[in-house]
Amino acid sequence: MDLNDEIVAVWPLAGFDKTLHYKIASSMAKGVFEGSLVRVPVGRRFTLGIVVETGATADVELSKLKMVSQVCYDQAIMTKPLLKLAEWIRTYYGAKRESVLETMIPAPIRQGMSPKRDKYVSAGEAPSPEDLAALERRAPKQRALYDFVSQQFKPQKKSLILARLNASAATYNGLLKKGFIREESRVAERVAYEDDIGKVEFADENEIVLNDEQSEVAESLRASMAKGGFATHLVQGVTGSGKTEVYLSAMRAALDKGQGVLFLVPEVALTPQTVGRIRSRLARYSDIQTVVWHSHLSDGERLDGWMALASGKAKVVVGARSAVFAPIANLGLIVVDEEHEPAYKQDETPRYHGRDVAVYRAFLEGVVCVLGSATPSLESYRNVKRGKYAIDRLTQRVDDRSLPMMFVVDMRQEIARTRKSIQLSTLLVEKLRDRFERKEQSILFINRRGFSSSMLCQDCGHVEVCDHCSVPMTYHRTDETLKCHLCGDEANAPMRCPSCKSPKIRWKGMGTQRIEDAVTRVMPKAKVVRIDADTMSRKHLFREILGDFRSGKIDVLVGTQMIAKGLDFPNVTLVGIVDADLSLHIPDFRANERTFQLLLQVSGRAGRGDLAGEVVVQTFTPHADPIQFARQGDVDHFLEVEAESRERFQYPPYRHLVRQVFRGPNPDKVSFFAEQFAKRVGERVGNRVELRGPAPCAIEKMKDHYRFQIWYFSMNVTALMADLEAIASEIGWPSDVIQVLDADPMSLS
Ligand code: ADP
Ligand code: ZN
Ligand code: ZN
Repeated sequence: MDLNDEIVAVWPLAGFDKTLHYKIASSMAKGVFEGSLVRVPVGRRFTLGIVVETGATADVELSKLKMVSQVCYDQAIMTKPLLKLAEWIRTYYGAKRESVLETMIPAPIRQGMSPKRDKYVSAGEAPSPEDLAALERRAPKQRALYDFVSQQFKPQKKSLILARLNASAATYNGLLKKGFIREESRVAERVAYEDDIGKVEFADENEIVLNDEQSEVAESLRASMAKGGFATHLVQGVTGSGKTEVYLSAMRAALDKGQGVLFLVPEVALTPQTVGRIRSRLARYSDIQTVVWHSHLSDGERLDGWMALASGKAKVVVGARSAVFAPIANLGLIVVDEEHEPAYKQDETPRYHGRDVAVYRAFLEGVVCVLGSATPSLESYRNVKRGKYAIDRLTQRVDDRSLPMMFVVDMRQEIARTRKSIQLSTLLVEKLRDRFERKEQSILFINRRGFSSSMLCQDCGHVEVCDHCSVPMTYHRTDETLKCHLCGDEANAPMRCPSCKSPKIRWKGMGTQRIEDAVTRVMPKAKVVRIDADTMSRKHLFREILGDFRSGKIDVLVGTQMIAKGLDFPNVTLVGIVDADLSLHIPDFRANERTFQLLLQVSGRAGRGDLAGEVVVQTFTPHADPIQFARQGDVDHFLEVEAESRERFQYPPYRHLVRQVFRGPNPDKVSFFAEQFAKRVGERVGNRVELRGPAPCAIEKMKDHYRFQIWYFSMNVTALMADLEAIASEIGWPSDVIQVLDADPMSLS
């Protein structure tokens, strides 16, 4: 071995959680950093891996160490804090390191995809005046090409130059042979950040001057950033209070110091306006490049975006959950918009919560994290109460616009009065017609796609349930089918009850299609359009519809929670919540919280322009807390009452919940095994952890698998996860029982 060889520690991306050591030639070592991607031999194969330590020492003989065979990129693809973050996610969410790295690093980078190279041209050896004259005479096209190239300040892309001058390859090659121009191959600059998401049309805002409340909050954030170090601020601001402007002010403070910014939204596709606003405002502010990170990027765009951030060429990333892993080296600020959104939780391994990871990353980086919401999560509320987070409030809508007036309609009375089951109350119909006459717009919100929730036989009570899942099938009228929203199975809608052959079939409950129908019936002249997962399957349709809605071509928009987020349409003066109870009666301790958040978020879509807004809420339980507090817009009081009830039952956020699901095709086997597991855990953890179950999950059967769960309540998730992992590795695991561990679960079905 060469005395100058160094040792590096590597996490291989190869299906096992070990740290391996390699030698690296000193010449190569200069280009290797913590976070570099390298190719290394493992056994008789090669694999890629991340360097986690340079200048390491290994406890094996040096001569036994193999050499690093290749360094994939000339810059690190992860930062040091990101490496630490990976370890935290691994231990907290109980995932394999490989799966954590797979989630953190986008596939094209993880696979060492090479950046696309293009040919670039610049002027070569300067021709003498005689040469030029000769060129002019014998090859005028070459002369023209030479003149053009020699006037450029920097090398230009060959293909662009040829196209621009309409020059042929022969002309080009002639010049090249003479040495008057030079060609080099360079990494192409594809512009991932110029993606079209940001181009959603929205009124060009004049430079906005913050109002007093906004200035105060912005000042508080900036002061915290100036002080340096880690801090988390919860910005609690009513809908339309201008939170985005406040974030922008803090973002500029970071950018002014040359630092980068991470901005998270629950879903890029559903918040085009927020994303567009951030981009255009930053572009106007300086030539800082913003990378928009979303699921529709091509591999090439992903590679370029990632590398632009890793190299510091781009300083801002705006994106959904996974953008929290963007390799910004000199991070100055993290913003998490709509921090209460369940969409921040990933529902596959590693089941991390984007907001919580963001806070932890801010801690590792020693920077400020801003969480924004009109309806904060109980988790963040508790952290404010405990003094862990600072709170900044925005209590007013901008320009003294008033918050919408909310009317609660008791559907029990409505049905008693009309003596039939109806979808739209008299009040809602009245107001819809009124808006239509005044050429204002309305949004109707129903949290279920399809036509109705289930098929009910009026003679025998039969409800058609999916063969593979224990949930009722949903009736879709457009194609006369019954669909399972869990496994996607579908069948033709029956004309007669499959059980007793009675023709008396009733469609129970309602979905977006039924509401669309009902509105069309009461207002035949109005243009009604529906947005839900069914319409969303067509690319671009969502944005087209939003465009049509903005330009006034649509009178009533009917949709699921997809339309609840971040949309800002000044001409919307009515929002109807068709069935407020849908989210209220689910078996989840967050049912109240979710309902309250949905009500306020949806109603926040009304009255955002100069016209005041109104909200009609239809419910069978008008006196339920979330509905009453939402009617009064009383967020603080709701949080207080909800926190009390959570504390009484010692539910999160008072203790952490870890949920373990066991599933498999044989119900007896799954349940027996879950029992055994629970017993082992009980013996090991004693009274450090409270166990509940095993019991069948709310959805007992899903895609032909029977499901049982154990709930663990604990103050220390990492310790619990380590215990569960240890037990799982000791116990003989049947091949047809699968487990899923979920720390701080957001879905309990
Ligand atoms: P929020 O996120 O709190 O619901 P937004 O940030 O979307 O609110 O702001 C709502 C609207 O008010 C946007 O159109 C925004 O451009 C505008 N706005 C925000 N702050 C101001 C201000 N100080 N003066 C004028 N308009 C503002
Ligand atoms: Zn029947
Ligand atoms: Zn199914």
